[in-house]
Order: sequence, then C-alpha cells, then structure tokens
Amino acid sequence: MRIGRDDGTLDRSDGGAGSRERKASELMGGECSRGGAVCLRFPSPFFEEEGVCPPEQRRMVEGSKGALDSLGPMTFPPPFRPARIVRTTVWTESLRSVVLDVEPARFVPGQFFQLGFSVGEKWIRRSYSAASAPGAPAEFFLSLVPGGELTPNLFKLGVGDELGFDEAALGFFTLGEVPECRTLWLVSTGTGLGPYISMLREENELRRFERVIVVHGARTKSEHAYSEELNALCARDPRFSYVQVTSRELNESGLSGRVTTVLASGELEGRVGEELGEQSHALICGNPQMIEEMVAALRARGLRKHRRREPGHFNFEKYW
Ligand SMILES: Cc1cc2nc3c(=O)[nH]c(=O)nc-3n(C[C@H](O)[C@H](O)[C@H](O)COP(=O)(O)OP(=O)(O)OC[C@H]3O[C@@H](n4cnc5c(N)ncnc54)[C@H](O)[C@@H]3O)c2cc1C
Repeated sequence: MRIGRDDGTLDRSDGGAGSRERKASELMGGECSRGGAVCLRFPSPFFEEEGVCPPEQRRMVEGSKGALDSLGPMTFPPPFRPARIVRTTVWTESLRSVVLDVEPARFVPGQFFQLGFSVGEKWIRRSYSAASAPGAPAEFFLSLVPGGELTPNLFKLGVGDELGFDEAALGFFTLGEVPECRTLWLVSTGTGLGPYISMLREENELRRFERVIVVHGARTKSEHAYSEELNALCARDPRFSYVQVTSRELNESGLSGRVTTVLASGELEGRVGEELGEQSHALICGNPQMIEEMVAALRARGLRKHRRREPGHFNFEKYW
C-alpha cells in the first residue's frame, strides 16, 4: 500500500497508483505561469515531470521531493485512506500548501478534514480546513508548528508521498451559517486564510453579498500566501477587496500592524471604505489570541456572535 523508499526510489506497484499518476499529470500540465498563483518545479522521480518556473518566482513556490527515507511503510487505519501529494507550494520555510490526488465533493467550503500520518507506532491525526473547492483536488494550507507532533513530519513530505485522508467533512464554519447582510468580512491570520480560499473558489455562494472583504494578517509579506489569486479576483470583480496586514514588516501595498490594531485605529475600514458594523458579518479564523481580541472589539461595537436562533454578526474558528 505504502510507497517504499528504502532505496531512495518509489515503488509504483501499489494498486491504483497508475490512475492517480495520470490524474496528477493532468493536474500538473502547464503549471508554470507568471500570472497565476501556481508556479511549480517538480523534481519528483515519481511523476518524472518538471515544470520550471521563472527564477524570480522559484523561491516562492517549489515542489519538493519528500525526505521520508528513514520512515518505514505506513498502514492507514480506517476511516483514513492513502492520498498522494501531487503538488506542493512552498510559500516560506514554515508555510506550504499541498494538493492531494483525492477530489472530495461532499463538503461545503469552510469545513475541515482530518489528515493523518504514522510516526513510529503512533497514528497522528489533525484537522485541516480545505482550501480547495468541492470536487477539485483537495488542497490544504499548512503551517509548521515547531515541536508539534504532526506538522514537522508533514513538512518532510513531497510530491509523490502519501498521507492519510479521512473524507468525512466536519464543521459549521460555512457561508450557510451566515445570515443575510450586505458585507461579508473574511478575517484571518496565517493559515486561517485557507477556508476563505475555498469559499472564494466557489463564488456562487458569495453572490448574495454586495461586498466581500478579505483581511489576512501575517508576520511578513512573504507569508501572504495566495495573494496573486486574491489580487486577480479583486481585479476582475470590484465587489471583492483584499487587505494584507503585516505585523513585522512595513507593507507598502497593505497595512502594517496587527489585524486588531488596524481595526482599532480605523485604518482597516478607511482602507476599504466600509464600516464593520450592523450591516456586516465577520468570519474570523486562525490564531486564538487574534480571535479573542477581535471578538472583544466587535462586542464593544454592540455586535453579537451569530447563533441560528439569534442572528448575530460574527462566527469564528479557532485553530488551537
Ligand atoms: C477546525 C480546525 C481546522 C484547522 N485547519 C488548519 C489548517 O487549515 N492549516 C493548519 O496549518 N492548521 C490547521 N489547524 C491546526 C491543526 O489541526 C494542528 O493543530 C496544527 O497543524 C498543529 O499540529 P501538530 O501536531 O504539528 O502540533 P501539536 O502537537 O498538535 O501542537 C503543539 C502545540 O502547538 C499549538 N499549536 C497548534 N497549532 C498551532 C499553530 N498553527 N501555530 C502555533 N501553535 C499551534 C498547540 O496548541 C499545541 O500546544 C486546524 C485546527 C482546527 C481545530
């Protein structure tokens, strides 16, 4: 079942690998583009295919061969099934996106899946929000947690490696839980942007909002993953706005500071020409401290957490 790597090569004999291989090739065809967010290099021996992106972009996104030679064969306890990585986008040393050769259709953007991996005798599972749209190859936006049980191992995986995927989608952090309102704010820090990428890739559900404002907090400019995709969306549809908020660097094209400080100072609303008030609904995702501060700020404005029986103005998803 598991691809063996004892001799540094990959065993192609596992059942179904052929079809996955073809699917992956289809996915990877012509992946190198200057305009899009996807620009990859594939040194994987498994796919024997390489798309080399322009040198100036190579630092940003690069497929990588896995480094799992020291780990033995893996078995997948139900309900997990093997899913192979077909694309890796390395945004920074501690931020990457992976695309798997599974195409879950039965989920709603904003929901999360369980990914699993065996480390020694232990099977470790964690929750990850889909960044892909339903029916598309599953994509996840991941951050490395130093000393964490799973992510240091996940970050050793490269194109052609397998991990466990449970196709049962979970969670209620979805647009179906957002009441009627004029403006939708999609506020995140770090990988909390992932569920919004999924929502934005399935634009139909967003048609009911007059404006959709994506706010992404990160420490450095390079951590603003998916920015090309978001800027392209704003350029093609004026209903969408995207604001980068960068805490440890000056950001000339966005705002400098933390999400909560630029809200408090009025810079954020000034930037988009829109008040975060009664006519708005905010989804907030990522770092729990940011969420707590954001919730306190919204409550101070008289806004309430949304409940089905008592419509409010914000929902949140804490990642830890
Ligand atoms: C609903 C949900 C959706 C999630 N979606 C994503 C996602 O799309 N992308 C993603 O990268 N993560 C996501 N997470 C977090 C993920 O499930 C793991 O917690 C994270 O990857 C760390 O796993 P680990 O085993 O490496 O660390 P662990 O061994 O589980 O954690 C080690 C310590 O780090 C803390 N910690 C956990 N996550 C972080 C973090 N990101 N930054 C700093 N400290 C942290 C924990 O509180 C713990 O004390 C989500 C979590 C939830 C609950």
